[in-house]
Amino acid sequence: MRLQGGVLTGIGCGGVVRQDTTLISYSRYEMPFTLADIFAAQHRIRGVADQTPFIPSPFMSANVGHDFMMKMETMQPIGAFKLRGAMSAVMALPDDVQGVTCCSTGNHGRGVTFAANRRGMKAVICMSELVPQAKVDGIRALGADVRIIGTTQDEAMYESQRLCVAEGLVEISPFDDPHVIAGQGTIGLEMLEARPDLSMLLVPLSGGGLAAGVAMAAKAINPDIKVVGITMDRGAAMYESIRAGHPVEVGEYPSLADSLGGGIGLQNKLSFQVCRDLLDDTILVSEEDIRHAMQVMFYEERIVAEGASVVGQAAVLAGKIVPNGPVGTIITGRNLDMSIFAKIMTGEDVQIGDLTVKGKRYGI
Ligand SMILES: *Cc1c(COP(=O)(O)O)cnc(C)c1O
Repeated sequence: MRLQGGVLTGIGCGGVVRQDTTLISYSRYEMPFTLADIFAAQHRIRGVADQTPFIPSPFMSANVGHDFMMKMETMQPIGAFKLRGAMSAVMALPDDVQGVTCCSTGNHGRGVTFAANRRGMKAVICMSELVPQAKVDGIRALGADVRIIGTTQDEAMYESQRLCVAEGLVEISPFDDPHVIAGQGTIGLEMLEARPDLSMLLVPLSGGGLAAGVAMAAKAINPDIKVVGITMDRGAAMYESIRAGHPVEVGEYPSLADSLGGGIGLQNKLSFQVCRDLLDDTILVSEEDIRHAMQVMFYEERIVAEGASVVGQAAVLAGKIVPNGPVGTIITGRNLDMSIFAKIMTGEDVQIGDLTVKGKRYGI
């Protein structure tokens, strides 16, 4: 994609491209929202969900021969970046809204509940049986009304949509909502502000709200930056959809990267289009790759991170991508089941549903 001087083209803003300003346009693509929306989200989340540390990984930097920077979204009050999108969306609601609902693989529900609490709204969170108990417990502890529905994220989504009508709640999609995408995009602003020299961003990819927002922000600031989406090879909905040219359904399987499970919705309105148009590549990693990257983060950097949040490192360590300049990734969350984490670290086999991930002791 190429960017030229002018106003960021946005359907929501009349789609006008002007060449006479200092802002930037995506001249070849109609984007569903604009860089201005990301700045507006930055304002809505300020002081609550912003300014996480952006730190180098000495081990990964030595591995790639360039600075390898990590955006520590694990340090968010809910332990995951999803608070940005949730805050952005909930703070934008009118005062007379009684309550909100969403489907979630765990972290979005936690973010929505946290944000709803701040506004005195109730939160009803719909999740499938695949969501790890540690995540369910975390959401309940924040005071949400949790409903466990079916065995797929899609079933949870339909329940959440039903509740909008039945109980008069406002639904907040985990990834296909302009305020959510803009909220996640603030991570891109912060990374590029701290390190304008970054040449590549490795972004964990599921429904694509994170990748869409980060790519919008980063490419508006530096049109030459490469943004690569990375996901697990079991049930890679956005990866398959981009290749098919339209949203497709995929199976849903247990994974070390449980936060990356679920479809993108056959009626996807925003995140598919933005990911398709702005991501330079999408890459798959295996459960083995993820297990190894989790061990590397813990033993080399003393970082406790979910499988979903180390897929960037996993892709690099597996030789699936070779950065040729300073690279940034997002450590998206730390809300894992610590008994499973402990087993992974000691090299035991772990059982997640019908998936067995073979153990291996680190450094042997
Ligand atoms: C939701 C989530 C992702 C993926 O974000 P999408 O916007 O759905 O692509 C990655 N990591 C963690 C920890 C998450 O909770």
